[in-house]
Amino acid sequence: MKEFREYHTKNSGIFFKIDKVIYNKKSKFQKIFLFENKNFGKILTLDGLLMLTEKDEYFYHESITHPALSLISKPEKILVIGGGDGKAIYEILKHNPKEIHVVEIDKEVIEISKKNFKWGNVFENKKVKIFIDDGYEFVKKTKEKYDAIIVDSSDPIGPAKKLYRKEFYLNLKNILKKKGILVMQAESPIYHKKIQRKIYKELKKIFKICKFYFSPVPTYPGGIWLYIFCSDFYDPLKSKIKRIPKNLKFYSEKIHRAIFEIGENL
Ligand code: SAM
Repeated sequence: MKEFREYHTKNSGIFFKIDKVIYNKKSKFQKIFLFENKNFGKILTLDGLLMLTEKDEYFYHESITHPALSLISKPEKILVIGGGDGKAIYEILKHNPKEIHVVEIDKEVIEISKKNFKWGNVFENKKVKIFIDDGYEFVKKTKEKYDAIIVDSSDPIGPAKKLYRKEFYLNLKNILKKKGILVMQAESPIYHKKIQRKIYKELKKIFKICKFYFSPVPTYPGGIWLYIFCSDFYDPLKSKIKRIPKNLKFYSEKIHRAIFEIGENL
């Protein structure tokens, strides 16, 4: 196979020349294919869907973490569901939390990310606690309470399917502190409107504030992506930004406003 092709519809999609295969195996949960492309660097795919490319991943990982964490003065305990590639953890560490709990169902994703991505050492950070578990089950049994929860899961196929259920959202709310923030990746506004309407309808019943925001992710379906921000305390367009980590490549105070204004109107 000289090219990796991801179909976004039956007759359109995206492709990358495969310049070097790094890992290509079926784990207990999904097909993991990691390869190198001259323009986009290393590209991680799961079950034939692109998860990240080294070249443009920062749009997504800065967007799924900083808009929430920048509002919280002392983000002590953060939960990441999914996120096995490690880059969301790398961004969260810039807010100097006490602990980051990562619940990833597939330890093979962590293993190959540790070995192949330049941020792979985040898994050794003493603040990071890894739980190899199904996020759907973890949120039911944990006694922990979190300042922020980031659901950085794959798309609603395979092991991530149940992370789009109402019960999961209710359990997330139960383990969020009173002033906590939940952020979930919410798919493509070009191709997944139906999923977004369902996500919003369920979360709006559980949280006082639910707002979509957007970011470009050039290699994701449609080239733009949505996230949903939920909280009973923070309003992303009214609450004060407490800190913006240095040397980011996309997120900033101005971008913060713009991504919510646009996200709410896509
Ligand atoms: N940025 C990517 C995106 O937006 O599609 C997601 C990146 S990350 C690689 C997604 C991770 O979610 C994968 O490592 C996958 O194994 C994990 N995952 C899927 N379902 C899960 C579940 N039920 N519990 C915990 N982790 C899960």
